[in-house]
Amino acid sequence: MVFKTPISKVNMIGPAYLKRLEKLEINFVKDLLYHFPFRYLDYSTISQIGKARPYEIVSLKANLVSIKNNYLSRSRTIQRATFSDKTGEIQVTWFNQSFLARQLKIGQTIGLSGKVELFRNKPSLVSPDYEILGVSLKTKRPLHTGRLVPIYHETKKLSSKWLRSRINSILENPYFKTDEFIPEQIRKEESLPDLQKALKQIHFPDNDNTLEKARYRFGFEEFYLLQLAAKIRKQLWQKAQLLVKLKPNKEKLESFEKNLPFKLTTSQKKVISEITKDMLKPKPMNRLLQGDVGSGKTVVAASAIYLCFLSKAKSILMAPTEILANQHYNTLKELFKNENLKIALLTGSKKDNLEKADLIVGTHAILFKKISFSNLGLIVIDEQHRFGVEQRERLIEREKTPHVLTMTATPIPRTIALTLYRDLSLSIIDEMPPGRQKTKTWVVPPSKKKAAHKWIKNQIIASNKKIQAFVVCPLIEESENFMMAQVSAATVEFEALKKYYQPKLKLGLIHGRLSPKEKEKILKDFKLGNTNVLVSTPIIEVGIDIPQASIILIESADRFGLAQLHQLRGRVGRAGQQAYCLLFSSSVSLKTIKRLRLLEKYDLGMKLAEMDLKLRGPGEIYGAKQHGFLSLKIARLSDIALFKAAQKAAEKTKITKDLKLKLKEYKIGIIKPN
Ligand code: ADP
Ligand code: MG
Repeated sequence: MVFKTPISKVNMIGPAYLKRLEKLEINFVKDLLYHFPFRYLDYSTISQIGKARPYEIVSLKANLVSIKNNYLSRSRTIQRATFSDKTGEIQVTWFNQSFLARQLKIGQTIGLSGKVELFRNKPSLVSPDYEILGVSLKTKRPLHTGRLVPIYHETKKLSSKWLRSRINSILENPYFKTDEFIPEQIRKEESLPDLQKALKQIHFPDNDNTLEKARYRFGFEEFYLLQLAAKIRKQLWQKAQLLVKLKPNKEKLESFEKNLPFKLTTSQKKVISEITKDMLKPKPMNRLLQGDVGSGKTVVAASAIYLCFLSKAKSILMAPTEILANQHYNTLKELFKNENLKIALLTGSKKDNLEKADLIVGTHAILFKKISFSNLGLIVIDEQHRFGVEQRERLIEREKTPHVLTMTATPIPRTIALTLYRDLSLSIIDEMPPGRQKTKTWVVPPSKKKAAHKWIKNQIIASNKKIQAFVVCPLIEESENFMMAQVSAATVEFEALKKYYQPKLKLGLIHGRLSPKEKEKILKDFKLGNTNVLVSTPIIEVGIDIPQASIILIESADRFGLAQLHQLRGRVGRAGQQAYCLLFSSSVSLKTIKRLRLLEKYDLGMKLAEMDLKLRGPGEIYGAKQHGFLSLKIARLSDIALFKAAQKAAEKTKITKDLKLKLKEYKIGIIKPN
């Protein structure tokens, strides 16, 4: 048994469980072993019944004295048992587990872990975790009680108890072998436990200390692999050849800039000149443009596209969603209205003729199209964190490469951007277009929800319907059918809000289950002011530009990362008017409210991202998985020391074919593994 063994070969994983595991993208032994617990229950101290105090969490090793089923109704049963050890007896109750009366035998030694409750004034355990101890090899060492017990996110009908036993069966299998890939020298220097040991300790830690060491190793490993991948990408990019050589045309570029409907900011000018210079070189550009929401990245992309056009080369601009592709299409049409630059739109639902286009705007549908790349000068990728590395590679995976400009609003701390993306050159817009006002932001208690909607309504009416509002529905935590749950929540909210706003104002509803055509119509209605309030699932997050929108109300704001909330807030006040952001929290914890309050104070994306890093746990950095641009499981971007250590190690590591295959196994993209 090795990492690459399919999960179906693991003992006691049948078709039903295989399906559930597949949903979590667990297909191989490696995937299951890298499905780490997110916390541990400390059941490690075994106590004695005589010493068990009410409300304490205890772990006992006790013998079963008696157990019987009581029937409460046809479907509900209660199991009452008595356990004893040398120091006394304790009552234990379970519910609806009538099989226990058959499974547990009188006199057997059972591990019990749970909270002591008072029942008829006597200490007792209610629904404790339990396991039969010492009857077979399998349970030689307890898994579910009497130790640090791993807890996994219980999704897709996979319980922690089930995961524990399957993971343990792999780790205890004498034929199971890992192939360590961090060179011994590096492991020695960093005192990292080897892979096999680390896996055991992260799932079934002996103690806090060994757990900490295992976590350190996996954090190190994440950074190490990412940096190796970046190192390889850089080497490959240096060898890449440019597809189309561009010609300078200073005059035309300058007149294009002069004819824009606004004056470029100093920052925009700076990055445009960096990009222009780079694109005139005989080597392909590979550049990351970072700029806060609303900082004006689109026009920067337009100038790069224009430079291509002047050399009669084609450009492609890719957006993460159809909505954004449509929007870019319209914006660019407007920006190029005085030029003879032909733009084609290519999305899942709209397919213009691409042959004669100078610019193709689209979603990643472009990746699956046979487009002639012969005259391609530039690819622009907007909001890169929504794209998998793999998709990006599809585009670049050719012998000759066009220039590539990747744009993101995700604030990545500079030191990290420079190493994780060392294959990219970095341009940063660090200034907002003039006249922007700080969006007034308030964290609002749930009791004021009605008042908030009344206030929004009055604001809109008082402005003679000039201003508009977004209402962002609760982000539903990962569930069996995430999309459907999200849609139904939005629909319920929409119906409920009608009573506040109608008949004076009109409401729109947008969510992910609508066809692109329907979405487009709804957005158009909103943009034209036919609807005054747009109720939305959190899909409006990236990039939508509705200049008149001035108010955004966000439900269950606590479920988003600060950086994401900042993105959402960036949807309002885009025409320079005073804008407002109302944050409702579904949690009243002081810590949560404090975190949200940071948005009242700060309005810089980078600052908020740094705060987010400090306050949130690993992997949560950029919110739910579908938003994550860097899905770190263990490491934190804020852990600069760990990052530096891994960087040093990556520097020293020789790139071999095996290593490239390893990166592939770990699903870390590198562009062409051979
Ligand atoms: P983002 O960086 O978030 O993609 P956009 O490119 O969508 O931002 O620009 C946000 C808004 O700011 C757009 O309405 C755009 O027309 C406007 N804008 C961009 N640059 C300037 C500028 N220099 N002066 C005034 N408005 C600008
Ligand atoms: Mg944008």
